Parts: sequence; structure tokens; C-alpha cells
Amino acid sequence: MPSISCPSQVESSPIDLIVVGCGFAGLACAIESRRKGHNVILLEKRTSVESLGDVISFAPNTGRLFEKWGLGEQLMEVNTQHPHMTLHNCYGEIINVQPLPQSLYGCNSYNGRRGEIHQILLKYAKKIGADIRFSQDVTGYWEDGERNKAGVVVDGQRIEADVVVAADGARSRARKLALGCEDDAKPSGYAVYRAWFNSKEQGIDKDPLTDFFYKEGGDFHGWIGKDVHMLAMSFKSGDEFCWVLTHRDDNDIEESWSFPGKISDVLSCVEGWDPRCRAIIEKAPSCVDWKLVYRDPSPTWISSGGRVVVIGDAAHPFLPTSIQGASQGVEDGVALATVLKRAGKKNVPLGLQVFEHIRYDRVRRAQQQGISTRDKLHKSPDARAEDEEVSLPFPEWLLNFDAERNANDLYEVVKAYILTEGYKRPSELIIPCCRSV
Ligand SMILES: Cc1cc2nc3c(=O)[nH]c(=O)nc-3n(C[C@H](O)[C@H](O)[C@H](O)COP(=O)(O)OP(=O)(O)OC[C@H]3O[C@@H](n4cnc5c(N)ncnc54)[C@H](O)[C@@H]3O)c2cc1C
Repeated sequence: MPSISCPSQVESSPIDLIVVGCGFAGLACAIESRRKGHNVILLEKRTSVESLGDVISFAPNTGRLFEKWGLGEQLMEVNTQHPHMTLHNCYGEIINVQPLPQSLYGCNSYNGRRGEIHQILLKYAKKIGADIRFSQDVTGYWEDGERNKAGVVVDGQRIEADVVVAADGARSRARKLALGCEDDAKPSGYAVYRAWFNSKEQGIDKDPLTDFFYKEGGDFHGWIGKDVHMLAMSFKSGDEFCWVLTHRDDNDIEESWSFPGKISDVLSCVEGWDPRCRAIIEKAPSCVDWKLVYRDPSPTWISSGGRVVVIGDAAHPFLPTSIQGASQGVEDGVALATVLKRAGKKNVPLGLQVFEHIRYDRVRRAQQQGISTRDKLHKSPDARAEDEEVSLPFPEWLLNFDAERNANDLYEVVKAYILTEGYKRPSELIIPCCRSV
């Protein structure tokens, strides 16, 4: 790490950021950075972003940030919140009906089609001046300590900025290229079959085993068994339908990690289960098999030169059962932009160190919650105590949280700690005020 100098005068000139990756983390960082007056170039290797994709949920901790951006109304138009989720064991017996509040701790949740929500954020980022460039595959990262610059390589060309934010997802190249991490993404031991289709075209409304989804005009059910759980939901007055089935998978992820799944393989996961599961799965015209990758917690998110930082899944991949992966990426983006604003152009490396400390323990705890929820869901009905409650967790520490305010509140004290005690990675030392409680 470079030694940090800290002028007492906060620099007000805008910071130049290069953000790599137009997922939710990269977009959130671009948006909040523009709102705070920084200049942003966002580079995305895909040619465009799809407007479709299956379901994603943003809890109130992210809803609060979306609402600060003035996007609440637009997001509500595509919102597909269900009032409750009915959980069954694999034999079809109801084990819980869990209310899913639209609003909690004074803020809304926003749920819906991944692509529709993404498009709303993308449009807003462009509107407020983020320079978003598609078909830009970043192949290298560099830093120049003498000139206080960092940058990336695209098509053999170097682009420079004050800071590079790598939000390049769970299969991040930046971790290796910029951080020197040798940890390849590895299989989590699970994969998800995913399908989204039109209910009427596929006959959900005609089959007596599935028509309840259509009649309800939007319903949400889950079935759980040993090492497998399946969620199924109808949306938009029952016209659209989605199911996801998480299953054990020990195949090599390097061969392929998202590829067409076979409906016959999905059906074999629910053999002997409630016949409604089979009826639901069979209706899908096709599905994808999505490998869930995992990484050990990275000891640091910052490069040795101090000007490249990884955020979102690139720093901390999440299991879907946390229902927080994208949300934590959005929080990262907002917290980073906030801290950089406080640090100023001349203190970017210090800003990144403060950012890493502020976020590390909270994210680690949210990751662990995904694992414990999965383990809770994946017990066989026979192994479950009769009074054992099975539900999705909505803990206050996680959801009643404002990432911007938290970053502002902690900035000075964390900065002072680092300047007095010296920088230590949060994997070695959690600064007391950064402990997630
Ligand atoms: C089945 C499933 C359900 C989920 N449900 C939820 C949920 O309900 N709620 C929730 O909060 N989270 C959920 N998650 C997790 C969530 O989807 C991820 O945590 C989140 O999308 C990660 O966002 P990201 O921006 O960090 O990465 P990504 O979305 O992976 O974005 C990375 C971007 O970087 C680009 N990129 C990569 N390499 C380069 C390069 N070299 N140059 C330029 N661009 C590059 C990629 O093309 C991509 O667009 C779910 C995940 C799964 C698999």
C-alpha cells in the first residue's frame, strides 16, 4: 500500500472514475458518483443490456437509495411484490405462509424483472451524465503512483482516471489482474435452473394443478426438500410466470456456467414430490442452468497501488438465498461514491481504504446469511423439527440501513483510525465502529 498523505483542505475538484461493468454494482456507483459531481466513464463488455431476465428483489436497504434517486415511482410501475409467500414441504404440506411486506422500516422493497429494473437505472445514469460505453472488454489494469493515476486497457488502448472501480462480477478478471488474487471462482456445489414464460401460452391457466397461480392474479409458492428448493411465482395479473430451482451440482464450472438446462433433468430433482411441482416445471418451454460460483472471502478489495478497487460480486459473490447480492453491490457503489466525495481528489487511496473498512464486515455478514438460509431451506422434511419455523429472514440490521448515511457517519472516525494506527486490511482487523451489529 502507498503511504497516505492527507491535506487538511478537502479538495473540491471532481474525481475521474472508470467503472468496469454495467451490472447493478457498477451502475449504482456510476449514478451516485455523478450525483456527487464526479466524472464517470463506465465500460461494459456486452453489446447492450437485456431488458428481460428473471426475477430480482431489492429490499428496503436498496429501496431507500432508489427513492433518493427519485426512481420510486418508475420502479413501482414494474414492481411485482407478492403479499405473501406460501412455503410447502416437498410433499405439498404447507409449512409457513410468510407475509412479504411491501414496505419495511419506512421504505419500499422493489421486486420485478431484472432487466426492467436495470433499464430504469441505466436510463437514469445516462440522463445524469454517466458516459456509458458498451462493447468495451477491459483486458488490463494499470497504476502510475507518480502521476496519481490508474487506468484500464481496452482494445490495446490505455484509458486513465483517478480511480478504477472494477464491478466486473463473480467471474471478475480484475481480481487477478489488479489485485493479484489467485483464487479462481469455484463451484458452490449448487446451481439454479431458471425459467420465465407466458402463463397463458404455456397453459398454466388451464391445468387444474397450476391454475391457482393464474386465478390469484399473482402468487408466490415455494417447495423445499433435501438439498433442493423450488420457488414459483406468477406476475402481472397472472400473465407471466417464473420458477427457479436450486439443486446440488458438482460439475466443473469452467466448462460452462450458464447454458440451456434440460427440463427432464429439472423434473428428476422433484421426483416423488408434490405433483404440482412437476406440472409447473413441465410448462416451461425451456430453462437455463446457472452455476452458482463462490469465492473465499477476499483479504482485500484494493490494489497494491491503492487506486483500483473491486466492488459487488467481484469482491464478494452472493448465493441467491441471501436475496442481497445485487443490493449489497448497490450499497457498495453508493458508499464508495460518498467516501470519495469526502476524501477528495488528492486522497483517493485513503478514500478506498476507508471504503473497504466501512463495507467489509457488513457484506461478510450478509454473505453468511445466504449460506445459513440455504442450509435451513435444504433440510429434508423428515430431518426438520415439527415446530421449526422456515422463513426468509428480514433482519433489521440488514434492511434498516442507509449506505450513504453510514458512509458519511463513519468517514471521519475511520479515516482518523487509519491515519493514527496505520492501515490494516479488514480481514486482519475490523475497526470497532465498522463492526456490523
Ligand atoms: C438465480 C439468482 C437470483 C438472484 N436473486 C437476487 C435477488 O433477488 N436480490 C439480490 O439482491 N440479488 C440476487 N442475486 C444476486 C445478484 O444477481 C448478483 O449479486 C448481482 O447481480 C451482482 O451484480 P454485479 O454488478 O456485482 O455483477 P454482475 O451483475 O455480474 O455485472 C458484472 C458486469 O461486468 C461486465 N464485465 C465483466 N468483465 C468485464 C470486462 N472485462 N470488461 C467490461 N465489462 C465486464 C459483465 O458483462 C457484467 O455486465 C441473484 C443471483 C442469482 C444467480
